[in-house]
Amino acid sequence: MTDNESLTFTGGCYCGELRYKASGTVLFKALCHCEYCQIFSGGMAALLVGMPADGFSYSQGDAKKSVNKHSDSPSYRAFCPSCGTHIYAASDMSPGVVSIKVGTMDDTSLYGGPNMALQCQDRHSYHTVDPELPCFDQWPWSE
Ligand SMILES: [Zn+2]
Ligand SMILES: [Zn+2]
Repeated sequence: MTDNESLTFTGGCYCGELRYKASGTVLFKALCHCEYCQIFSGGMAALLVGMPADGFSYSQGDAKKSVNKHSDSPSYRAFCPSCGTHIYAASDMSPGVVSIKVGTMDDTSLYGGPNMALQCQDRHSYHTVDPELPCFDQWPWSE
């Protein structure tokens, strides 16, 4: 990723009810191994693209939010109330940032790949990570 890369993209959920647009400076491209991403991904890490929350809006439908009551820092996930697809995660730890699920992008080739691995303390032996990728035990912004 080049510094200050800006990106505009659209995306949506599995059933098509929820559509969004995201625009702004890319804040991070991460492969997150946290236990919650594993719950929602089916066991693997999740690919996230961090985008400014003020550049994110729904063009169709509206998401519900599930709050994580187990985490030390309040965090939640926005999901389609009809099909359950998770669109993004957000946390009070990083205000103003939405971590959008790359799989929901219309054109996933825009992503280009992660530039860091996160929450590597939750990694299992079957989670292989590119050795070139910097691996942080937690979110680097909270360390
Ligand atoms: Zn849906
Ligand atoms: Zn995660």
